[in-house]
Amino acid sequence: MKTITLGPTNVYLLNVNNGYLLIDTSYPDKYELFVQKLNEININISEIKYLLLTHHHNDHAGFAAQLVKNSGAKIIVHKAAKPYLENGRMDPDLKGVNLRLKFMLGLASMLSQFTYPPVELRDTDYILEDDTFDLLKETGLNGSILYTPGHSADSISLLLADGSAFVGDAAMNTPPVLGAKHRPIFIQDMTSVYKSWKKLISMGAKEIFPAHGKPFSAGELKNY
Ligand SMILES: [Zn+2]
Ligand SMILES: [Zn+2]
Repeated sequence: MKTITLGPTNVYLLNVNNGYLLIDTSYPDKYELFVQKLNEININISEIKYLLLTHHHNDHAGFAAQLVKNSGAKIIVHKAAKPYLENGRMDPDLKGVNLRLKFMLGLASMLSQFTYPPVELRDTDYILEDDTFDLLKETGLNGSILYTPGHSADSISLLLADGSAFVGDAAMNTPPVLGAKHRPIFIQDMTSVYKSWKKLISMGAKEIFPAHGKPFSAGELKNY
């Protein structure tokens, strides 16, 4: 597994049968930096066979369209992401969001400006409805993809058999100044966030690899 940090977002490359599975992209303007960092570790963009989008936010799907165009990677995503990806927009429904922060950032109005190049989903992509995706059969990776909503309605996590959990923004590891360190900064539904954490732990998550911040022990989530 390789971690590549692109601005505030960590993306992860996992070895699969015929190349790599990439978990998330970053903002649209980080594509060149990504290619440069791939070159440094001797990976060609064409070796990326799958792009798993943990959710549709612009710091995750920002350069997905460009990556898919240049690599031919198949997208793995939850079906709830589809309308936002295809319009290159963010879901403005953040009613459960931390109100103080929302006020501070003028978030609702900001979100509508957070656009990114639209991502067209094709028949060959994997659009998930639940937890039944056969990761091993499709990619050779021993693990599963779990539906982990709360931060957003389309959040999914990849859990490997060894307990490594790639969760996108379902959990974070941010500086305390931004609030409770493992809680997502933006939330659609806090109850779902906690349910998703329980699900990850009960399914065997041991180490959490968040999109924002360093990896941490899944046990830390039990303190909430
Ligand atoms: Zn997000
Ligand atoms: Zn994010």
